[in-house]
Amino acid sequence: MNKDIEHVKVLIIGSGPAGYTAAIYAARAGLNPVLYTGAQPGGQLTITTDVENYPGYPDGVMGPEMMEDFRKQAERFGTQVRYGLVTQVDFSKRPHRVTVDDSVQIIADTVIISTGASAKWLGLESESRLNGRGVSACAVCDGFFFRGQEVAIVGGGDTACEEASYLSNICKKVYMIVRRDELRASQIMQKRVLSNPKIEMLWNHETVQVLGDEEVNGVELKNNLTGEHKTLPVAAFFVAIGHQPNTDVFSGFIDMDESGYIQTKPGTTRTNVPGVFACGDAQDNIYRQAVTAAGTGCMAALDAERFLAEYELA
Ligand code: NAP
Repeated sequence: MNKDIEHVKVLIIGSGPAGYTAAIYAARAGLNPVLYTGAQPGGQLTITTDVENYPGYPDGVMGPEMMEDFRKQAERFGTQVRYGLVTQVDFSKRPHRVTVDDSVQIIADTVIISTGASAKWLGLESESRLNGRGVSACAVCDGFFFRGQEVAIVGGGDTACEEASYLSNICKKVYMIVRRDELRASQIMQKRVLSNPKIEMLWNHETVQVLGDEEVNGVELKNNLTGEHKTLPVAAFFVAIGHQPNTDVFSGFIDMDESGYIQTKPGTTRTNVPGVFACGDAQDNIYRQAVTAAGTGCMAALDAERFLAEYELA
C-alpha cells in the first residue's frame, strides 16, 4: 500500500446534522474522524432561516447558526473538518478508497455516508429570490410561521399531500397546485386531501411566478388546459415536488432504491458493503428531519465503532 496516501479509521462524507453527529460520537470514541463537508457545508439547514423544532433550542435558532454549533462541537473533540467534495469511491475491497476533489486520495477503514438530499425546485427566478422569505421546501419546518394565513403548495405526490394536510391544521386555507388532473399520491393520502374542506385543489395548474418583493404575497398560476392566468394571494409557497438524494457518486457499489436512496439493513445504518454506513436523508425519504438525521448519525458512528472493534482496527 502506498505510504503517502492518508489512512483514516473513520471517514465521514457530508456535513449536515447526520454527518456532524456521527463525527461527535466517533471523535469522542477516540477514532479521529475526518469529515469532508461536500459542496454545501452545513447541508440543507444552511438555506433555511429559523429552526424551531430542534429540541434544545427553546427560542429557536437560525439554520446556519445551528450548523456552526454542530461543527464546533464535532471539532471540539478532534474531528478534522475539511472542505472538499468526494468525487469518486472504490468500495470493491477493504480498506475503502475515496477521492476528494478529483485529486486527494484517502484510504478508510470505515466510511459514513451522510451526503443528504436536495429538494427539487421548479427553477423559477422568483422562487429562489424569495427562498426563506415565504418560499420553502419544508412545511413541517416553516408552516408554523404562516399559521392562520392562506398558503399554497405545489406537487401531487405523497409528500405534497402529507404537507398539505399538515398545513391545513395550522393555516386558514391551503391551495394545492397540481400540474395534471390527478394526484400521484397513494389512495389513502389522496382521500385525505380531497376530503379536507380547508384544502382547495387547483388541477391542471402550473406556477408562472411567485409574487412579492421582500416576502411572498401571492403566486401567479396558469391553467395549462385553457391558458388562463390567475393570481392567488398567499403568504407562503411550499414546493413539494420531490427530493433527490446526493448519492450518485456511490452508485455501482452501494445498494439503493429506484430513486437513489441508500438501502440500509433495518434497524442499523449498515449498507450492503461491510464497513460502509449510511445515515441522514441519503437513506431516508420518509422523515427527513434534522433530529432524525442526527439520530441516525449517532447510530452510524456506533455501528462503525463496533465494526472497527470486531476487525480489531480500532
Ligand atoms: P413524487 O412521488 O416523485 O411526486 C412528485 C410530485 O410532484 C408529482 O405529483 C409530480 O407531478 C409533481 N411534480 C414534479 N415536478 C413538478 C414540476 N416541475 N411542477 C409541478 N409539479 C411537479 O415525490 P414525493 O411526493 O416527494 O414522494 C417521494 C417518495 O417518497 C414516493 O415514493 C412517496 O410514496 C414516498 N413518500 C411516502 C410517504 C409516506 O408513506 N408517508 C410520505 C412522503 C413520501 P406528476 O405526478 O405530474 O409527475
